[in-house]
Amino acid sequence: MINTLAIIGVGLIGGSLARDLRALGLVREIIGYGRSLGNLQLAVELGVIDRVAVNARDAVMGADLIVIAVPVGSIGAVLQEIAPAIGEAAVVTDVGSVKQSVIGAARSALGARFASFVPGHPIAGTENSGVGASLEGLFRGRRVILTPTPQTDTGAAAHVHGLWQAVGAQVISMDPLEHDRILAASSHLPHMVAYALMDMLVRMDEHREIFEYSAGGLHDTTRVAGSDGVMWRDIVLANREALLAVLRQYHDDVGEMIDAIERGDGQWLLETFQRARRGREMLTKP
Ligand code: NAP
Repeated sequence: MINTLAIIGVGLIGGSLARDLRALGLVREIIGYGRSLGNLQLAVELGVIDRVAVNARDAVMGADLIVIAVPVGSIGAVLQEIAPAIGEAAVVTDVGSVKQSVIGAARSALGARFASFVPGHPIAGTENSGVGASLEGLFRGRRVILTPTPQTDTGAAAHVHGLWQAVGAQVISMDPLEHDRILAASSHLPHMVAYALMDMLVRMDEHREIFEYSAGGLHDTTRVAGSDGVMWRDIVLANREALLAVLRQYHDDVGEMIDAIERGDGQWLLETFQRARRGREMLTKP
């Protein structure tokens, strides 16, 4: 049982976790802090949090679990602000989509308290943002990756592991470097492809006609281009190296596709499409 839970960043992920922990009766009181008052007031109206703190430091004072659910680029500043107010026995965790940069920021912000920080990343979400988009059951059957360091307190890690398990997630521990490399390919690259495609189309003079005559293909391929720009700018900058490696590989492969189309190489196209189709089957029916 968590006596007081502090959520910094009461949006899709922070709000969904709060909803689940409350529904399961695992928390007595939830205090929220964020950026815009409108979102926080909505969080109270929706019953996601019990009250709004005046600042991040006030939010964590007396909390036994602190969840940081702001965009990756803001996690370091939030940790720096709350560091002096974190209680002796409190556990701190985050949900950021990139882990090495967050761990580095936490190490310098928390100093001696770094051991009580458990880096985490739920592999669940939607392209929608804010507490209005938060859902009960968002993490059920999904994976949550924890990337504890050798300094991470084992009791703190076990506590966070147990919470995610309680909300129905399958919890996995991973090295942060490996996490960032895998997520660059599985999540960050597809977002770049969708953003680039949508941006190219919307800048075309006939974009209205293109959209009018679009079907499932364009909608399916670009769904994640509806994701929050600040969140994705932060993820890209925080995972630049790993993302650039797969983005360059993708760029080269698109170049090869252009060459094959230019020379009318039906064999190349067929082999590529059939290999991709088998890959897609593995993705959807593992
Ligand atoms: P979100 O719905 O936009 O929620 C983020 C919340 O943080 C918003 O309510 C925002 O306030 C607040 N916020 C932004 N900057 C802040 C700051 N400097 N100080 C305090 N509060 C701040 O985003 P989300 O999708 O929940 O993402 C939150 C974190 O989860 C990110 O680190 C992201 O990488 C990670 N994540 C996201 C997904 C996903 O699919 N969306 C999946 C896994 C992990 P406003 O309401 O005023 O904007």
